[in-house]
Amino acid sequence: MRNFILAILALSMVSATPAERLAIVNVATAGPSKLNSVKKLAGVSWWTEIGGSLLVSATPAGLVNVKRVGFATNILGPEIAADNLRVIVAGHESKPLPAGSVTLVDEGRIRLVEGDSGAIAVLDQLAREKSPALGIFPVEAGHVVLQLQANQNPSSKMSSRHSAMVSDVAGKVSRERWWGDVQKLAGWNRHISAAGNIQARDWIKSRLASLPGMEVTVQEFKVQGRSAWNVVGILTGERLAQESGVPAAGDRGLLIVGGHFDSTSERTSSAAPGAEDNASGAAGVIELARVMAETPHSQDIIFVAFSGEEQGLYGSAAFVDELPDLEKERIRGVLTMDMIAYAKGGNGGPLGVLIETESEYAAFARNFTDAAAAVTKLQVSTSYNPFGSDHVSFLDAGLPAILAIDADWNRYGHYHRSTDTPDKLTPELAHEILKMNAGALALLTN
Ligand SMILES: [Zn+2]
Repeated sequence: MRNFILAILALSMVSATPAERLAIVNVATAGPSKLNSVKKLAGVSWWTEIGGSLLVSATPAGLVNVKRVGFATNILGPEIAADNLRVIVAGHESKPLPAGSVTLVDEGRIRLVEGDSGAIAVLDQLAREKSPALGIFPVEAGHVVLQLQANQNPSSKMSSRHSAMVSDVAGKVSRERWWGDVQKLAGWNRHISAAGNIQARDWIKSRLASLPGMEVTVQEFKVQGRSAWNVVGILTGERLAQESGVPAAGDRGLLIVGGHFDSTSERTSSAAPGAEDNASGAAGVIELARVMAETPHSQDIIFVAFSGEEQGLYGSAAFVDELPDLEKERIRGVLTMDMIAYAKGGNGGPLGVLIETESEYAAFARNFTDAAAAVTKLQVSTSYNPFGSDHVSFLDAGLPAILAIDADWNRYGHYHRSTDTPDKLTPELAHEILKMNAGALALLTN
């Protein structure tokens, strides 16, 4: 779990002066320039962006200015200050919010809640205990918690060489191969205490080892005294790249693509198919390995299926711990996938993905949003409050990492249940997310 306690203590909490009121402005359809103009209005002293909602603190005159812009605005009661608000990120366990708290903004994985002093005390205690159920963050002035793609400044146009590369590699992603692997993985109980975990481990190892140029090892680590294993494959950069453009081994960058293959449920002794969580992401690692094994790239790429994630990110933490410093210095970026195949509306509905990282890695994340815009119909949001999955192990070590997770996972009724089976999934969504990821990998390795 992420050590965000220190971050909370280090932040001075923002607070409104008595004359100011907090308000929530609906900026879902604002676009980047209109959104920026609201942030800069006279009388608006600070703001926090949470997806389609902009929380502002404004003087009475500032509120008049905000309303004049024309977006729906919900002015909060005069008794509500920033100290009564917390940003909540849903984690790997479900936990109800404490009594006395109300959700003001619901963006799926991320919510803004308001609470009385009792509720806030309960939340802050959970934060100190590093609850795996809820990521709890204070409201920070000038911070983008979550940004909709429509509210991002557009990137400069992709060069024609890059856009050809992105569409070429995206075209190699096979939904059918990925789907076959999801079904295979979901056939095993992959909880770390089950025999199926070892069978899945060996099967993933054989899948990766069958790819040309891939060197595969198994990494053992302990989870609460029990052995568990990551499967690690490395694809070096020189194999298919043009002779002239390939840096020497020591000068090559390193990309890491990971997703956990272990699973859990309410009855782990008998069934934990974990189709969405996380056969979808582990099969995604295998599919991206296949694609990159047949695509020229001049950097090295490690593909890793983590275990022990459900008990608290043990596998990714062990992987980062054991990575030599020289290897860490070569890392250009890390992509993890956890739950990439559930769409509430199925094939016909909107296909949403959330990219999660820290603000300082926004440029790295941009490779993914750019690739998504070029070759998919995904609706992309970017969150800068990372929490509760394998990307956090890398971010805590100061490495640039993103998580790709479907936008609807926390509305999935079979999450961590023995009913999390492939028939509940929307393969089209995973296909789109994998096209985005393959495109970004091409951009990052060439
Ligand atoms: Zn998971």
